[in-house]
Amino acid sequence: MKTVEYSDLKTVSLDRNKRKAKVCIIFTGGTIGMIPENPGNPNIKKLKPASLKELLDVVPNLGFREGIELGMVSFKKPVDSSDVMSVHWVTMAKIIFEYYEDFDGFVILHGTDTMAYTTSALSFILNNLQKPVIVTGSQLPITDPRTDAVQNLVTSVHIAGYKAKSLPKIPEVLLCFRDTLLRGNRATKYSSSGFIGFISPNYDPIGKLGEHIDIREELILDINNENADFFITDITENSNNDIKVIPVNPSITPDQLERDLKTEGIDGVILLTYGTGNMQTSQGFIDVISEAVKGGEGYAKPIPVFNVTQCLQGTVEMGLYEASGGLLEAGVTSGLDLTLEAALGKISWALIRFGNIQDTHNQLQFSQRGEQSKNLHDLKWKDKSDFEYIKNETTRIITVGKNIPGKYVAAKLNSSLIRIQGLKVKKENTNKKINIKVFINNPNATVSTSDKSAECVYSINDIEQINENGNLVFDATKTSRNVVQSGNPVYISLVAENCSIQCRAIFFSLYTDVN
Ligand code: ASP
Repeated sequence: MKTVEYSDLKTVSLDRNKRKAKVCIIFTGGTIGMIPENPGNPNIKKLKPASLKELLDVVPNLGFREGIELGMVSFKKPVDSSDVMSVHWVTMAKIIFEYYEDFDGFVILHGTDTMAYTTSALSFILNNLQKPVIVTGSQLPITDPRTDAVQNLVTSVHIAGYKAKSLPKIPEVLLCFRDTLLRGNRATKYSSSGFIGFISPNYDPIGKLGEHIDIREELILDINNENADFFITDITENSNNDIKVIPVNPSITPDQLERDLKTEGIDGVILLTYGTGNMQTSQGFIDVISEAVKGGEGYAKPIPVFNVTQCLQGTVEMGLYEASGGLLEAGVTSGLDLTLEAALGKISWALIRFGNIQDTHNQLQFSQRGEQSKNLHDLKWKDKSDFEYIKNETTRIITVGKNIPGKYVAAKLNSSLIRIQGLKVKKENTNKKINIKVFINNPNATVSTSDKSAECVYSINDIEQINENGNLVFDATKTSRNVVQSGNPVYISLVAENCSIQCRAIFFSLYTDVN
C-alpha cells in the first residue's frame, strides 16, 4: 500500500469519569493548523504546522469542557492541499482504519483548496463507515485575530464527539465550514477567500451551525448494514488512478479531443459538458468518443467516459437534447448531478471496485454514498441481434427483452425517457397517413392496439415529428409507471402502418429518486 508518512498518535487524556467521547484529529496541512514560526516577531510571516499542544494553546477548551478526549496524528510533512493526491487520501483512510475502534469520530484538518476533492474521495474509499469523519479548514491561520479556524475546529470536534454534545451521530464524511455542515461528496469550493468558502449546490446542508448546531436528521445517509465491517479501498493499488478531465468548450476540435483521449496510460475520462450533458453534435466528436469507450484502434483498453456537467446546479440527462444523443450512442456514462470533485473520487474508486466495464458503467450511475440525487438505470438496444423485424400487415420492430440493471424500485421512479436513434420511415402508400406507435412491454401490439392502452408510450401520425437525423425522444414516465416492474425484462416495440420502418438504436433511461 502506498502511503505518506505520519506521526504516532498523541493523546491528551481526560479522567475516565469525565470522558464522554473520544475524537481523533488528523492534521494533513493547510492554513488551519499553521501557527507563526516566530510568534515573538510579527514581521516574520512564516508559518509552521502546529502540534496538538500548540493548537490547545490557542483553543485551550477544545472539547475538554464537554468531556471530549482528544488524540492527534499528523502527516510528518504537512502539505498545502494543492499537493494532495490519491496517496494522501489513502493515507488519511489508513489512519482512520488504524484508530477506528479507539475513537467515536475523526476530524481532519486540511487545506481548503482541494478539501472537497478529499471529502468526496474519502466518502468512497471508506466502506461501511459508521462514525463521523469531519473535514475542516480555514481561510485564516488559527492565530490570526480574525481567524475562522477556531469556530471551524471547535464545531467539528463537537460534531465528531457527538455523544458528549447530545448531537445525532452522522456516519458520513462531512465538510464543516463556517455556518454549514455539508455532505462531503456534495460540497464544492465556492470562494477563494470568503468565510463562506463552500456550498453544496444539489443537496441541502445537513447542519446549520449558528448559535446552535442544528442537524437535519432526515438528510443523514442511512447505514446499509450495521453489521458490515468497516474497510478501506486502496485506490492506489494496481492503479495509477490516471483520470483525465476534459472540459468541452467552443474551441475544442475532434483532433484535440482524440489526442486527449489517447493520452498514454489513462484509466478513465471525465468529460465536462454543457448543461444537461451536451457537447458539439458533429459526428467527428462522437466517433472519437465511441472509439475510446470501445477501446478501439490506438487504445490499450476501453476508456470509460463519464459525463459531468459544467453547471454548478442541475443534472445530466443524456438523450434529452440532440447535443447529447450521440454521447448516449457512443456508450458514455451519465454523471447525473455529481460535482466534478465527487465524479473524480467516484470513478477512481469504481475502477478499482468493479472489474468489468459494464458493471463500472452501471455502478457509476447509481448512488453509492448519497453523492447524487437520482439513480439512472439505462437500457440500450443497438446491435442487430437486439431487434426483431416483422413485416406483415404492419411493420413491427420488437426489441429483445432486457433486464433493468441494478435494484430498480418502481415506486421511486422519478422520470423516464425513450430515445430512438436513426429511425427511417418510408411511406408505402402516398395517399394514406402514416401511423407509428411505440409500446413498452407489449410485444404483441399492432397498429390497431389503442394508443390509450397502458403500454402505449407514443403515437405519431405525422412524419414531420421525426427530425432530419431520424431521432425521436419522448417522455415515458407515465407508461413506465404503469408497466415497468423490477425483475421483469423490458421490451420496446414499434409498430407502423402505411410505411416501413427501421431504426439504429433505442435507449431507455429510468431515473429513480435516491431518497
Ligand atoms: N493553499 C491552502 C491549502 O489549500 C489554502 C488553505 O488552506 O485554505 O492548503
